Amino acid sequence: MDAKRGAQEKCGEMRDELAALSHRIHGHPELGFEEEKASAWLCEFLADAGFNVERGVCDLPTAFVARAGGGPLHIAVCAEYDALPEIGHACGHNIIAAMSVGAGVAAAQVADDLGLTISVVGTPAEEVGDHGGKIHLLEGGIFAGVHAAMMVHPAPFDVATPRIIAASMFDVHYEGKASHASAFPEMGVNAADALTVAQTAIGLLRQHILPTQRIHGITTKGGEAPNVIPAHTSAKYIIRGQTLEELEELRPKVHRCFEAGAVATGAALTIAGGDKPYAEMVHDPEMAAAYQRNAEALGRTFPDLGAVLERAAGSTDMGNVSLALPAIHPFISINSLPAVNHQPEFTAHCVKEEADKALFDGALAMAWTMVDLAHDDVLRSRLIARVQD
Ligand SMILES: [Zn+2]
Ligand SMILES: [Zn+2]
Repeated sequence: MDAKRGAQEKCGEMRDELAALSHRIHGHPELGFEEEKASAWLCEFLADAGFNVERGVCDLPTAFVARAGGGPLHIAVCAEYDALPEIGHACGHNIIAAMSVGAGVAAAQVADDLGLTISVVGTPAEEVGDHGGKIHLLEGGIFAGVHAAMMVHPAPFDVATPRIIAASMFDVHYEGKASHASAFPEMGVNAADALTVAQTAIGLLRQHILPTQRIHGITTKGGEAPNVIPAHTSAKYIIRGQTLEELEELRPKVHRCFEAGAVATGAALTIAGGDKPYAEMVHDPEMAAAYQRNAEALGRTFPDLGAVLERAAGSTDMGNVSLALPAIHPFISINSLPAVNHQPEFTAHCVKEEADKALFDGALAMAWTMVDLAHDDVLRSRLIARVQD
């Protein structure tokens, strides 16, 4: 097929530049909503490739939309580029960024012949866990008129339709009263005890939640000195469920555990955030099948992971996109085992040869999937006919 060959040639031409772009982003990790360098480099690359680039969309300085082609079928490729605190690009978003740009530019080569409009959407702050970049962009109408969206995420394995569950992150604060911990403890209200009671209650709650629900968190402030009764403590928690509905069933139970800490100690409780949860991912089955065929044509294999895959469920704001329009979020292997995402060892893998290969294969498999969506009359009509919310 000529269009696929055209996309492949373009990908081949860009191979070294895309790897260099991925490595440069990896070398300058930036946290969510602070990805100034990464978004500038990506926008430059896309502008040089002839895309019409709009930066700072939806009042998010590091978000962008780059558009090429003018056809009736409008496909968005999402690029993520935020890193994690302390461990840098331990989720491989440097690879995602370069891969999505590569896919967009390769597909743009053949967009006019195929009746496609291609948008590469720069989506900041996926790792922030609440109010993710894609949620802002969805609310700001960036995906209005888009018929399908895609991105591919680095992982230890290739998976066409990974299980991605709903998640909500929030902050908890307790305010007690400081006092001398030895001389006048009866005059203090211990905010650290409040957190201890809450964590104990959460530990007991685990017996009564579904196997598919999750609760995990960290203490972000535990006190100032062992001889001062802690007056202020705080924590960050994430709750997850298979779906937004299952997540919302869990939320009041976890809140009650934090309330227990306040009741037991007399400290005042504040819970902030958590009001823009990440939704579960609904993969479009036909798009996912097309992606898998294309990735297999490049020599990739999709192992049957069975129970491992059922258990290993993360969350992403791409889930929110998938509830609004047909979308896919496959995993692509960077052959990192035993290292897995969010480990510093994974960070090191994200610039190895296997990572660059995943970048290239993912870019081309996405570009070919866009060609398939354009060529398959039934699928194309389904995507175009869909009435958006
Ligand atoms: Zn991550
Ligand atoms: Zn990630």
